Amino acid sequence: MLTRSSLTTPSLVRADGTYYKANTQEKIVALTFDDGPDPIDTPEVLNILKEKNVRATFFVLGQAAEANSLLLKRLVLDGHEIGNHGFTHDYQQRHIIEEIKGTDQAVFAATGTHTYYYRPPGGFLSKVQLATIKKNGNIVALWSVDSKDWRNPGTKQIVDNVMKNVFPGAIILMHDGGYKRTQTVQALGPIIDALREQGYRLATLSELKMLDSEIK
Ligand SMILES: [Zn+2]
Repeated sequence: MLTRSSLTTPSLVRADGTYYKANTQEKIVALTFDDGPDPIDTPEVLNILKEKNVRATFFVLGQAAEANSLLLKRLVLDGHEIGNHGFTHDYQQRHIIEEIKGTDQAVFAATGTHTYYYRPPGGFLSKVQLATIKKNGNIVALWSVDSKDWRNPGTKQIVDNVMKNVFPGAIILMHDGGYKRTQTVQALGPIIDALREQGYRLATLSELKMLDSEIK
């Protein structure tokens, strides 16, 4: 049985063929939300994003996607991007390709679009798993700024965790499911406002990556 110590850490994975930031000096960042869609918190997140005219990327779980297919439709209608977070949130990812395919099928059935980016639960991934995912045609997308909203540290701390660590090209980790996300919902508007005050634009992961390849 795999233990945490037998898996590579996110930082090790980042060093080896994963996407966690754009190489750019331009002030543009991507907000990403994991573990949804959730019937209560995801609509709240979507309302804020719509009000502020922001497009983001949602790494959905297959099991949540199947149960909330109308929310998947709304994600796409609102202009957001859908990424793949596996089906069951199995940290060890014992059936990694099956999990990715199951989630992709749930997303495709609801929206007619496929998932391209895969984010492993917890960011954990072995090198063998990374190679397997690449062979399957997916890009492993991690993050470079962790809001740490998963710790429920308080709304102000979540805002600070983002604003103290943000940089041009950053991918920001947040959550819209898996647990009650009241603090995330409360922090989201202030984060968007603070980023814009500092001159940042917000984009989906694909938009961010496009900018990246333009520079190369
Ligand atoms: Zn997750």
